[in-house]
Amino acid sequence: MRRVASRTRSYIALGANLGDPPSQLRAALERLRGSAAIDVAAVSGFYRTPPLGPPGQPDYCNAVCAVDSELEPEALLDVLQGIENAAGRKRDGERWGPRVLDLDLLHVEGRVSRTPRLTLPHPQLQQRAFVLVPLMEVAPGLSIRGLGRVADLLAAVDRSAVVPWN
Ligand code: ATP
Ligand code: CA
Ligand code: CA
Repeated sequence: MRRVASRTRSYIALGANLGDPPSQLRAALERLRGSAAIDVAAVSGFYRTPPLGPPGQPDYCNAVCAVDSELEPEALLDVLQGIENAAGRKRDGERWGPRVLDLDLLHVEGRVSRTPRLTLPHPQLQQRAFVLVPLMEVAPGLSIRGLGRVADLLAAVDRSAVVPWN
C-alpha cells in the first residue's frame, strides 16, 4: 500500500530589528516561497513593535505566515534556521539581543513537541501581542490545543504597542 504523506499547516513568526527590517522579512518570505517542500498560504501585514530584552535596541518588524508542508516539524525548523543563517544571523549574541532575522515555529496543526531543539506550540506564543496580532490576521478561527482560541489569547494581552509598520 502506498502511503500518502499528509500536508500540515504550520504558523511561522518572522522578526527583524537590524538592517532594513521589512526588507529582511520580504527576503525571508521569498526564500520560504522558493523552498520546494513549502507552500506559503498566507502572510500577515508587517507591524512595528518594541523590542524584548536588552534596552536600546531598534524596534522590531514582526509578521506571521501560514505554510503548508509535508515536512516533519524538525525539518521545517531546519529550513527556517537555514534561512536565518543565509540572512547573516549570528548565534553568539545575548538572549533576545538584536538580530537580522528571527524565524520561530509557532504551531504545527495536530503536533506538539518537547525536545531540547523544538518546543511546540512555541512556549511564549500566548504572552506575545507581536505574535498574536499578526497570527489573528492569517488564522482568525484558529484554536490551539492546550491554549485555546487565538482570538481569546489576543483579547487577554495588551496590544497597544503593536502598530502597522508604516
Ligand atoms: P524566543 O524563542 O523566546 O523567541 P529566540 O527566538 O531569541 O527566543 P533563538 O536564539 O532564536 O531564541 O533560538 C534558540 C533555540 O530555540 C533554537 O536553537 C531552537 O532550537 C530552539 N527552539 C525551540 N522551540 C522553537 C520553536 N518553536 N521555534 C524556533 N526555535 C525553537
Ligand atoms: Ca523569537
Ligand atoms: Ca528564534
